[in-house]
Amino acid sequence: MAYQLNEKVRDMEPYEPISGTYRIRLDANESFLEIPDYIEADMLHRISELHLNRYPDPLATGVCKGFGKYFNINPDLITVGNGSDELLTLLTQTIMMKGEKLVYTTPDFSMYKCYGYLAENECIEFKKNADFTIDVDALIDLVNREGARMLIFSNPCNPTGVGLPREEVLRLVEGVPDCLVVVDEAYMEFWNQSVLSEVEKYDNMMVLKTCSKSFRMAGIRCGLAIANRTLTNAMRAVKSPYNVNSITQAAAEVLFSYPDDLDTATAKVIKSRDDLYAAVKSLADKYPAKLSLLPTVANFVYVKMPTGEAKRVFEAMKQDGIIVRNMGDYLRITCGTDYENSEVVRALEASL
Ligand SMILES: *Cc1c(COP(=O)(O)O)cnc(C)c1O
Repeated sequence: MAYQLNEKVRDMEPYEPISGTYRIRLDANESFLEIPDYIEADMLHRISELHLNRYPDPLATGVCKGFGKYFNINPDLITVGNGSDELLTLLTQTIMMKGEKLVYTTPDFSMYKCYGYLAENECIEFKKNADFTIDVDALIDLVNREGARMLIFSNPCNPTGVGLPREEVLRLVEGVPDCLVVVDEAYMEFWNQSVLSEVEKYDNMMVLKTCSKSFRMAGIRCGLAIANRTLTNAMRAVKSPYNVNSITQAAAEVLFSYPDDLDTATAKVIKSRDDLYAAVKSLADKYPAKLSLLPTVANFVYVKMPTGEAKRVFEAMKQDGIIVRNMGDYLRITCGTDYENSEVVRALEASL
């Protein structure tokens, strides 16, 4: 008998990033801004002083302090991960037990279900309304009826760009006392409805943040989980001790020591998002049969097209050196520089 992979992983394929070089990349919701040179120089200096023969600080104390100061959060309530992706893995693999019920919403970030599946959670789908809003009462009912142990959703949502107001998030958390609600706020820098300041008040809420979007550092892999002490102790206990490398820790510490620069960068992305939305909206008004979109509170727009069209337009733009994300009948387009926005809108109109 030859060795056989288990059924769970046998047919899985590695995550395939867009390969090749393209002049414009608006597919992954990264920031179009780079860290300014003077901050990068500070980071490089800090990195040059590290003792890389030594293991990193297991608790990433400096990152917790810097992030805590920026968001006015107690650093003891923060767990740092190798990207939010690692934290999602820990949540499904360790905070959940095999066979327990995980509720995810659709459409939303597809990794929640993927990690839940790998952890052998029982994954239960909750469908959003046609306008991508969440019927909070129906969601509360589902979670309680199923006896779900965890609910994960992104707010604002990737890929729809729609947000759930803060009061509604808290009503949801209060409505499902036996379920841990994980609110993934990867895009909340672009909106103003965070529940971060409330984590200590709830025993069943955790907020996830990331350095990958507004903070312009997708490459360093740094995500944060913020929750009350009990949950934070558990997260810190179950993670591998040296999950966040010293170089990432140094870079993130330096980053959070420039709060004004973080705010400026966020404001620029919001301006770009508003510009891109306005431009694509005017195309939608001009060609109502060909595309439509809803207002967005994230750093991307989510554009609906007639059956088959999104794929065709995606390919046409790719030929033109412009990469966006095609998801079924939708294109998700991350906002970029003024030039990138005007190019993507031009290519979109040309392909209609
Ligand atoms: C981009 C993104 C993240 C960030 O993941 P990292 O692993 O920190 O880069 C988390 N959640 C959602 C919904 C995202 O879109």
